[in-house]
Amino acid sequence: LNISGYKNTKQRNKIIQILQNAKTPVTAEEIYLQVKKEPTSIVLSTIYRNMETLLKKGIVTKTIYSDGKSRYELTQERHTHRVICLKCNKSIILEECPIEFIEKNLEEQDGFEILEHKIEIYGHCADCKTVKN
Ligand SMILES: [Zn+2]
Ligand SMILES: [Zn+2]
Repeated sequence: LNISGYKNTKQRNKIIQILQNAKTPVTAEEIYLQVKKEPTSIVLSTIYRNMETLLKKGIVTKTIYSDGKSRYELTQERHTHRVICLKCNKSIILEECPIEFIEKNLEEQDGFEILEHKIEIYGHCADCKTVKN
C-alpha cells in the first residue's frame, strides 16, 4: 500500500466534498479553513498542490475574480457561463450560451474548428448596483 498516495486521495476527496457543498466558487484559502475544521496536519500549500492536480484532471474549474483571487468550483457537466458581481463576488449561472451562434458561423463560414471557449460576464448585482435617480 502506497501510504502517501492514499493520503493524497483522501485529501482530494475532502476538497471535492467541500466544493460539492459550496454554493459559490471558493478560494484555496476558504477550502483550507474548511479542511482545518477537523484535526489535520494539512498545510495551505498542500491545498494549492491538490487544486493544481484537480485542475489538470478537469475535475475543477478555476476562475480569476476581480479581486485577483482564483476561485474554484467543480467542473459543470453542462456548458454554462457565470455572471459575476464586481463588488461582492456573488455569481449566478447563465444557462444559455451567448456565443453558440458565433461558433456556428465560424465553423460554417470560416471553417474553423472551435474546441472550447470561456466567457465570464462582470457587473453589479441587484444588491450592489447604485440606484440612479
Ligand atoms: Zn453584488
Ligand atoms: Zn458558451
